[in-house]
Amino acid sequence: MSVATAAIDAGMQPAAALPGVGPALQVLLQKLGLEHVQDLWFHLPLRYEDRTRVTAIADLRAGQSAQVVGTIEAVERGFRYRPQLKVAIGDDTLQSLQLRFFHFNRAQADQLTPGTRLLCFGEVRQTTLGLEMVHPQYRRLAAGEAVVVEDRLSPVYPTTEGLGQKRLAGVVAKALALLPPESVLELIPRDLCAAHGLASLREALLTVHRPAPDAQLDLLLHGRHPAQQRLAFEELLTQHLGLKRMRAAVQRRKSPKLAVAGVLRRRLIESLPFSLTAAQRRVDEEVRRDLVQPKPMLRLVQGDVGSGKTVVAALAALAAVESGYQVALMAPTELLAEQHLRNFRHWLTPLGVDVEWLAGKQQGKARQAAMRRVAEGAPVTVGTHALMQEDVSFARLGLVIVDEQHRFGVQQRLALHDKGADTARGEVPHQLVLTATPIPRTLAMSAYADLDVSAIDELPPGRTPVQTVAVSNARRAEVIERIRVACAEGRQAYWVCTLIEESEQLRAQAAEVAHAELSAALADCRVGLIHGRLKPKEKQAVMDAFKAGELAVLVATTVIEVGVDVPNASLMVIENSERLGLAQLHQLRGRVGRGAVASNCVLLYQPPLGQLARERLEVMRETSDGFRIAEKDLELRGPGEVLGTRQTGQLGFRIADLARDAHLLPAVQQVGARLLAEHPREADRLIARWIGGSARYARA
Ligand code: ADP
Ligand code: MG
Repeated sequence: MSVATAAIDAGMQPAAALPGVGPALQVLLQKLGLEHVQDLWFHLPLRYEDRTRVTAIADLRAGQSAQVVGTIEAVERGFRYRPQLKVAIGDDTLQSLQLRFFHFNRAQADQLTPGTRLLCFGEVRQTTLGLEMVHPQYRRLAAGEAVVVEDRLSPVYPTTEGLGQKRLAGVVAKALALLPPESVLELIPRDLCAAHGLASLREALLTVHRPAPDAQLDLLLHGRHPAQQRLAFEELLTQHLGLKRMRAAVQRRKSPKLAVAGVLRRRLIESLPFSLTAAQRRVDEEVRRDLVQPKPMLRLVQGDVGSGKTVVAALAALAAVESGYQVALMAPTELLAEQHLRNFRHWLTPLGVDVEWLAGKQQGKARQAAMRRVAEGAPVTVGTHALMQEDVSFARLGLVIVDEQHRFGVQQRLALHDKGADTARGEVPHQLVLTATPIPRTLAMSAYADLDVSAIDELPPGRTPVQTVAVSNARRAEVIERIRVACAEGRQAYWVCTLIEESEQLRAQAAEVAHAELSAALADCRVGLIHGRLKPKEKQAVMDAFKAGELAVLVATTVIEVGVDVPNASLMVIENSERLGLAQLHQLRGRVGRGAVASNCVLLYQPPLGQLARERLEVMRETSDGFRIAEKDLELRGPGEVLGTRQTGQLGFRIADLARDAHLLPAVQQVGARLLAEHPREADRLIARWIGGSARYARA
């Protein structure tokens, strides 16, 4: 057996082979996806706790995690809302710190008596009554016991119930003892490591799991230590390789060549009341070049709100229809899908092209009939996720268009491919993804490495910029008065109620309350109401009335966030704007400024504003450039939020942080290209190491 094979085997041994890992522990490790020894090597700390020193209470700062030694001065048991235990401790600096517990048992409470010395570790928070720690970790110190601090940072691992940090760290340490020499562990070829200044992987792993006492704590705590950067590089590289592999796998398949004279397309362009912008023409051309290829198009069209993506999608659809293929257009919300339906019918029906509708809430019979027509070859079908359901089948699906991509993940994109796959002909549909979320370039290259990107980077002419102001809720009456004046001038307004993290029912209620308030205050205006709890027909009726100008004001929940297009609406009020993220504010504001009249956006906020909220509202006032807003959003909130994928875990990196590590991406792409071209086996092993066998794109 060669050295290399032996070492691979060391990593590929089951974790259960490690001393002390019995069946019970093995089950816990499996819950964390830790099957093999190498999974433990790459199970990286989420963060560190610094117990290398004791901080004087007088030196504590809110937001910081710190270790403190103090003597209990007072204990109070309270039952406000729920049982709690408050323990005040003090130290030589004559300042005191409150420890607060909500979960505690009798024995624990009995041990915390005045005069007892405690060694505590926790996050410091500021309250109106001073500094406190909620549920700190603590240990009672015996009388006269000297405080011994740790000599190095303590790693905190992702873990699961029943598996404590100490025990997990112990297993990791045993796994690390089996780390092979660098020459075997390293999968990135030596010349590439040298060219990009990549430090030793072995050293990096050892450092990250068990930082030396003299390691640069500050760098480690902020993820900027060279060891962390080395691992972040490898993780980003692996994600990149995974997406590229997935793309290659898809592109090895065949798609229909949608090469036609373009009669329908020309007729649509001629029928439009406007001419396409240069950016629209360019992107249309890029899409057309993809469609005539016998391999699947995988293209993302980025364009700020209002840039006119829909018509570009319609042109692509017509190419497919003219070639005798079907088109599916999918949107994330029913309201948006309905709007597409209307646009497409408006544009395509005069050309003799029928547009079908398939949505989740559709009734039994209508749905059956629509599904039958789709199965028989209806040319264009518009809908929501319902289009992806198993019982929907297409006769000859040639093109799938997905709007507002940021709500769909990679997995869903793949599902669509499977849906459209025609096993008889061995063909998969082309894929066109539309997104209004301007994604900073670096992020797009990383998160969408499986897609080609086109940008509609120009708005149609004649748009007037939206004037944005932030106004305290204390001046609500003035804002309502402003709506009254605007409506008297024939303008229309949106009033958006935002309640986040609550149920659709609560959101609807909040909108109803605002609706009642505005209806009473604006006796001369007709005020409509739309929210997610209305039936599709009801929503449609309200939207139609607003569009027709029969309603002057539309009170809405954030259901109108995407896609809604009523050019005459020129005033938007967003309630509790301080609670929304930049991307969402930008989308909402994009609902106005679509016509020729100057538009206004009022960001109502509930004071006092926190620092982050203040910055966000400032950005909104300053710019309407979607890309700038996205960059800022990335800076303020991190990439998961920008892409809207935090929940799906698609970008659930272990150590990389795109906002912090974006500077690594150019090198990641270069190394990635070389690995795929020249070292495909190493690429496979990297993917297996970081992503494991479970991820679909690792197998693609
Ligand atoms: P988005 O990119 O946000 O989806 P839409 O496709 O909804 O934008 O287009 C926004 C509005 O602009 C629509 O009313 C559409 O008809 C109109 N529009 C699209 N392209 C142009 C253009 N080249 N000139 C003028 N108006 C356009
Ligand atoms: Mg749109």
